[in-house]
Amino acid sequence: DPRIAGIAKSIRVIPDFPKPGILFQDITTLLLHTKAFRDTIDLFVERYQGKGISVVAGVEARGFIFGPPIALAIGAKFVPMRKPNKLPGPVIAEEYSLEYGTDKMEMHEGAVEAGEKVLVIDDLIATGGTLGAAIRLLGRVGAHVVECACVIELPELKGRDRLGDTPLFVLVSSA
Ligand code: 5GP
Repeated sequence: DPRIAGIAKSIRVIPDFPKPGILFQDITTLLLHTKAFRDTIDLFVERYQGKGISVVAGVEARGFIFGPPIALAIGAKFVPMRKPNKLPGPVIAEEYSLEYGTDKMEMHEGAVEAGEKVLVIDDLIATGGTLGAAIRLLGRVGAHVVECACVIELPELKGRDRLGDTPLFVLVSSA
């Protein structure tokens, strides 16, 4: 698709953030580029509209940027998947491992019902630990994650391998 090149070009790469040796993919510059931002949302909407998806689940924090416009366009609800102790109501939580230690993801009880078809969205997949936790959390309430979608994949980290049978769709692969 000819729109992909413009999206890829609008992502800024910042060396040594947040730590030395990390090449950080910065999507805030994509958001400044109105055509690239619109094209990003359109590409996801074209892929997911009419597929019976009733929930778009966005992973904190950058899944909160891309998820809501997709949810509105396809007529689905938006559900935030948050860092611990941010959601005010009763939650269910899923732990996942990081390079050093563990983290936790939380979702409000009752936000997603058994049998619902869910799209999980984040800006980027690295090791796949984050999206893997989202898939497990949604599976525990009996929902079906149809696919995970990200703007960027870092394929060298083989994050796809941590998603089990759930497909992954990405717009840009970054070396
Ligand atoms: P993973 O769990 O796949 O190792 O890491 C993915 C999570 O870390 C995502 O929520 C993503 O937002 C964040 N992340 C890791 N590296 C980057 C990066 O280079 N750029 C951005 N924008 N997010 C990153």
